[in-house]
Amino acid sequence: MWRATVLTLYPELFPGPLDASVLGRGAAEGHWALDTVNIRDFSDNKYGSVDDTPAGGGAGLVMRADILGAAIDSINHDDRPLLCLTPRGAPLTQHRAQALAAGPGLVALCGRFEGIDERVFSSRDIEEVSIGDFVLAGGEIAAMALIEACVRLVPGVLGSASSLGEESFEGGLLEYPQYTRPREFQGRAIPDVLLSGDHQRIADWRDEQRKEITRTRRPDLWERFLADGPIRRDKNKEPK
Ligand code: SAM
Repeated sequence: MWRATVLTLYPELFPGPLDASVLGRGAAEGHWALDTVNIRDFSDNKYGSVDDTPAGGGAGLVMRADILGAAIDSINHDDRPLLCLTPRGAPLTQHRAQALAAGPGLVALCGRFEGIDERVFSSRDIEEVSIGDFVLAGGEIAAMALIEACVRLVPGVLGSASSLGEESFEGGLLEYPQYTRPREFQGRAIPDVLLSGDHQRIADWRDEQRKEITRTRRPDLWERFLADGPIRRDKNKEPK
């Protein structure tokens, strides 16, 4: 079973949204599981503090290396990678989520305050991951985003595996526009081609739309798509 362990100062925030909808059902059916470790349990003082002032001065507080080290070492990793959510990490991608979903799970370390003593990173095998170029107050929401991105790809969690194949980022492109009833909404009709019943024309139209949307909205992805070609990438191989 795919397993996520989250090290956090706020275990009460979990599972939160990870318990809703298909993910909640996936957990109930035994496809994946989540547990938390309260970093404060590893505090060495009666106040339960886990942070201290930054060496060299400056604003805020930094999470202590000795306390985080003890919290990390208390976990049975079972070959699961340890990821730390941090704005300075590598941007999370669908490709990375696919690779993580194909493995045994992950351990996620959530920062708070000004961040984490650098020696935690240099003394442990930690992959630093960011969910975007902005700063959150803590790593918990970022960890939820990471776990959700992975868990929905764990076999059995989503009912229809076919819906995964045409999603944004599959094959290097964003998704085509979707429509459903009503046939007309405030003067806007569903494109005729989608009502034609001609599967080849529909597939061609969607393919064109994917390319156009990617080209105009995400030139970075489009450039990479042009360089890689339309071949679906090997999920375990990092794209160029
Ligand atoms: N001082 C840090 C910096 O400038 O990079 C920001 C610390 S932030 C206030 C506290 C914690 O929130 C971080 O340690 C990290 O765990 C989490 N966090 C904030 N933004 C994040 C992001 N974009 N991606 C992942 N985690 C983030």
